[in-house]
Amino acid sequence: MSLYRKAIDETTGEEILEVLLSGRMLLDHPLLNKGMAFTDDERRAFGLKGLLPPKVSSVEEQIARNYENYKRQKTDLDRFLFLMGLQDRNETLFYHLLSEYISEMMPIIYTPVVGMASQLYSHIYRRPRGLYISYRHRGEIREVLANAPNKAISVIVVTDGERILGLGDLGVGGMGIPVGKLSLYTLCAGIHPATTLPIFLDVGTDNQELLRDPLYIGWRHERVRGAEYGEFIEEFISGVIETFPNAMLQWEDFARQNAKPLLERFRDRLCSFNDDIQGTGAVTLAGLLSATRVNSEKLGRQRIVMFGAGSAATGIAGQIVETMVDEGGDEGLTADEARSNLWLIDIGGLIHTGRSDIEDLSRPFAQPLERISDWQVSDWSNIKLYDVVRNIHPTVLIGTSAQPGAFAYAIVQEMARFVARPIIFPLSNPTSRCEAKPSELLEWTSGRAIVATGSPFADVPPEVFGGMRPRRIGQCNNAYIFPGVGLGVIAGKVRRVTDSMFIAAARALCEMSPALQEPVAPLFPPLDAIRSVSKHVALAVALEAQRAGVAEPVPRDSLEKAISDLMWEPRYMRYRKV
Ligand code: NAD
Repeated sequence: MSLYRKAIDETTGEEILEVLLSGRMLLDHPLLNKGMAFTDDERRAFGLKGLLPPKVSSVEEQIARNYENYKRQKTDLDRFLFLMGLQDRNETLFYHLLSEYISEMMPIIYTPVVGMASQLYSHIYRRPRGLYISYRHRGEIREVLANAPNKAISVIVVTDGERILGLGDLGVGGMGIPVGKLSLYTLCAGIHPATTLPIFLDVGTDNQELLRDPLYIGWRHERVRGAEYGEFIEEFISGVIETFPNAMLQWEDFARQNAKPLLERFRDRLCSFNDDIQGTGAVTLAGLLSATRVNSEKLGRQRIVMFGAGSAATGIAGQIVETMVDEGGDEGLTADEARSNLWLIDIGGLIHTGRSDIEDLSRPFAQPLERISDWQVSDWSNIKLYDVVRNIHPTVLIGTSAQPGAFAYAIVQEMARFVARPIIFPLSNPTSRCEAKPSELLEWTSGRAIVATGSPFADVPPEVFGGMRPRRIGQCNNAYIFPGVGLGVIAGKVRRVTDSMFIAAARALCEMSPALQEPVAPLFPPLDAIRSVSKHVALAVALEAQRAGVAEPVPRDSLEKAISDLMWEPRYMRYRKV
């Protein structure tokens, strides 16, 4: 029997939990523990008398006490550890506290601070969470999956730790990311924490520093690659399909050479997607749709320069092309016409057909050499961003290169000479990698630039750009998309995740952009509103899934109800002993 189940109190009609555990075991169960909020009646019924200080605290007091303690922590890493400790003791309180201070705490439990924690993982490790499936478990992965603490899993986030947030191969430290992402599923979309499962696939690490670290807690072995890696993943996925047939799986932070092939290989076998590619594409597309609406323009008429042409950029580019084609209905652009509006630049310069060193990922976006033959450029062997900008006069500039300062004054000035409101998204994370600071972009364009960033930035004071009011900067944060996608997939009983569902998610997010009401407002809604954003995204995703034939048709109002019913609120329920 499970340790708890929902029930209705026959006399009051109130929803309660029937709970099997008692005493110390109840206090040690993070999903059931309420700490000092257990009432006197509950303390009597569950054998807790004397195990807690006499005071019965309200949740408000618990929040105040924990926030005070949180503020007392000296560094971001201490704050991260404090919050993880709370998550391990009392999950309801953890999510309640996070939802009260979401803008302040999201950067701690997720990027950028989770990156630092992942780098130090073997040194700060305290308690296990989720599953660690090592290469040494091959042949018995089903058995490992069966050990998952909960059986009714609806969302899995899995990584092999090879490319963590632009920090590279962190080996077992990569586990910090699935744990953090799943916390966002709960925080932003109300996915019940007991139905989430973080998984780390330990196929070794090529990070020499980790291999030499005596405290390293992963498998001390170079990375397994090639056919052996493929067979290991195959066994893992077959096991997931068998053990958790209703789960959606999110691929997370796999290296560039594995990310797309894994997604393509398995996307027809289970409900899965890759957030680095598809989630990033959708949130950026949402920002672009809002920005072009501010400019009363169509997406298909934009000239878009993308600086950095890796996983993030090509994911974004793919979704832009699909949307440009879709936008005009029968009179829309062809895919080739749409692609001709995109100018991708990687470390070797502008991507064009005359180059022999283009990666497979970006090849579909190579511009024909003939199109640029009459350009003025400083170096034909590596056509730089400035040359691209002065030859095509872009309306949009997106940065996913992790090269700080790449959007220099001269480049931004040149772009802004030809466009009333240039759209500029320096998306690289963490903050130190951003291509330009929002304050610089606004100063150099006298406040005309429409800016969104990958990392969070403070408001820009009006004196910087000669405005009347501070300018808030929207954060192009994947958390606006993936939790809502998950919610829509679960509530809509969706069988497969299609690319079109991400475009639907982007359009839904765009509809909630504050900039549509007020042209100098941020492109993205405030984080405080994220639960309603996720709900809106979930509905759009589930409806699109029905249209695409990957979910059974259900009327819109039933879907809305299913979505609301699924959203867990981090509030204490009354317990009854069974
Ligand atoms: P990636 O390694 O796949 O791609 C990096 C790209 O930058 C490559 O095409 C590389 O050639 C190019 N590049 C590197 N140095 C360059 C230079 N000097 N000049 C021109 N191009 C150069 O990485 P990725 O997964 O695409 O992530 C890139 C960045 O985007 C990271 O900083 C990441 O944090 C950020 N990102 C932001 C979001 C978001 O804002 N929501 C989402 C995903 C990724």
